[in-house]
Formats: sequence, C-alpha cells, structure tokens
Amino acid sequence: MNSRCALVSKIIPFSCVDGPGSRLALFLQGCNLRCKNCHNPWTMGRCNDCGECVLHCPHDALAIQGGRVYWQEEICQQCDTCLQMCPQQATPMAQLWSIEHIIQHITRAAPFIEGITVSGGEATTQLPFVCALFEQIHQSPTLRHLTCLVDSNGELSIAGWEKLSPVCDGVMVDLKAWDERTHQALTGRGNQRIKASIQWLAARGLLTELRLLLIPEHSDYLAEADALCTFIHGLGDVSVRLNAFHAHGVYGEAKTWRSAGPDDIETLAQALRARGITQIIPPALYL
Ligand code: SF4
Ligand code: SF4
Repeated sequence: MNSRCALVSKIIPFSCVDGPGSRLALFLQGCNLRCKNCHNPWTMGRCNDCGECVLHCPHDALAIQGGRVYWQEEICQQCDTCLQMCPQQATPMAQLWSIEHIIQHITRAAPFIEGITVSGGEATTQLPFVCALFEQIHQSPTLRHLTCLVDSNGELSIAGWEKLSPVCDGVMVDLKAWDERTHQALTGRGNQRIKASIQWLAARGLLTELRLLLIPEHSDYLAEADALCTFIHGLGDVSVRLNAFHAHGVYGEAKTWRSAGPDDIETLAQALRARGITQIIPPALYL
C-alpha cells in the first residue's frame, strides 16, 4: 500500500458524533490495541485472504479471485456473517481506496459539513496516508475551509505526531484507564505512550478532546480520580468527553459486562467536578 491509498472499512458522509459539528467520518481498517470493549472489533485486523468467510456468506457476495477475497458490494446484504466468523478480526468488505477517490466523497459532502474526521480502527496506523490526505485538503481551494481531525487511541509515537501536526487541526484521544495494569488488562498494552501523546498534543493546542470510556466495574477513573484530575489540570484548557460503554457488538468476555447508564456517568462527572474539572461533555448516546 502506498501513501496515496488507504484500507478503508467505512465512510459516513454526515456524522454528528465524530467530532464537533457535522463531519464526514472516514474509518480506516487496522488497530494496534486489542480493547476488550471495542464495539467494532472487526476493524482491528487485516484480511489475509484465508477464504474462511467466503463459503459462509449466505448471499454469495464473496469470492476468491486470483488468491484474494473479492467482495461484491451490489450483492451484499450487510448481514455481518463474515464479520462474526473472521479469525483475524477483519472484514472482507474493507476497500483499498486512493486519495483521489476519497477526495471525491469529501467534495460531494463539502457544502454540508464543517470538516472531516479520520477514525478507525486506529487512524494513525496508516499515518502517511492521513498526512497526505490532510495536506491535499488544506491545499484545495474548494476544501481548505474544512477542519481535519483525527480520532486516535494515542499509541502513535511523538515522532509520528510531529509528522502529522503541521497538517492536522486537532486530535481526539481516548484514555481507557489511568493505571498501567488496568489499561493493559483492558487493551493489551500499557498507557505510558498514550499519556505522553495526550500531553504533547495538549501543549500544542491540538488536543480537541480527551475521552474517558466508562465501563462499570472495570474502569478505574473513580478509584484513581485524584491522579487523573491532576493529569487533566496539567493539560490546560481541555474538554473531557465521557463515553458510556455498551456491550452491543463487542466480542468475548466484554459481552457480559454491564453497560454504563446516566447514573454511572453522573457519578463520574461529579467526582471530576469535585476536583475542579469543569469542561465535561456527556455521552452523545446511551444504548
Ligand atoms: S475477511 Fe477474515 S475470514 Fe474472510 S478471507 Fe479475510 S481473513 Fe479470512
Ligand atoms: S455482510 Fe458479509 S456475509 Fe453478509 S452478505 Fe455481505 S459479504 Fe456476505
């Protein structure tokens, strides 16, 4: 894959939940965390053309051609059978798209949106593409008014952020847990790089939002509220979005986890407010 192509799992021309205002949201395939709570777990992996899903598609929308899995969009019924059974946590429906193709989508949506958000999976696992796309948008006379945001898990290195920051208007970052071991248990990795990313972005005015995903009985935000709030105060003027875990779509043990409701969120919000955190954004939705 060259820097002018991306493996895309989904594009939503108009979204109100992927950053401020109305935005086109582009979801890239592949992630470098393995969060148990992920509600799009089929966006984590990359298809290796094993063919497992092809025989099981109930609508014959999949085939193997030249050793590669081939998805026939016009036949697909979006039943998601292929997603459930993929051993790679991937999808045969991800498409390799060029920047030019994506720019066409953005141009059509441009009169109705304030910007674009590149999400995932983890957007920054395809960093050269994201940099090239944002650069092209900023250079286009008809698109340069659009803000270019990234929705990230924060795993990118500081060297990576240095490459992205000249062409990126802001980043929304999730901090899945405060304690290193809790974060490791939830995501498969520690959170030192993520905390460093959050601080680096905030110091440069690029942290659009810090996001906390509340999973009842599994998150440690309440237990670690003092340390967490000291960290947030150190970021300066930053909004904190509280997201509510829901089990819909997750795989494995997280299917049995309790969803977060308004009372859970309010308890966390009160704990943050009691420690001087005032810019709190409630969840856009509960399921
Ligand atoms: S999507 Fe998954 S099951 Fe289907 S061919 Fe690719 S790796 Fe195999
Ligand atoms: S979602 Fe997957 S399994 Fe279902 S019809 Fe489409 S390609 Fe086939």
